[in-house]
Amino acid sequence: MAERRKYSKKYCKYCEQKVDFLDYKNPSKFKFSLSERYKIMPRRLTGNCKKHQVMVENAIKRARAAAIIPYVADRKKVIDNPFADFR
Ligand SMILES: [Zn+2]
Repeated sequence: MAERRKYSKKYCKYCEQKVDFLDYKNPSKFKFSLSERYKIMPRRLTGNCKKHQVMVENAIKRARAAAIIPYVADRKKVIDNPFADFR
């Protein structure tokens, strides 16, 4: 073991909160898995487990269809926290 990890180990944040169901009407729940351009973050970066990643994908796709979150972010205004107005 020559190399040690510099950052803390990745873990599934939804397992930690014991999330059984993700509501697409509540985007603050799946904000961990959205990038600043509203893309779905891959599992290799977030550390989500497969079960919760599928839940997140379904919730985000439903929320996009329901116009709760945008499909694409405006190229000129990439904001730091896209969920500031949800609180
Ligand atoms: Zn999980």
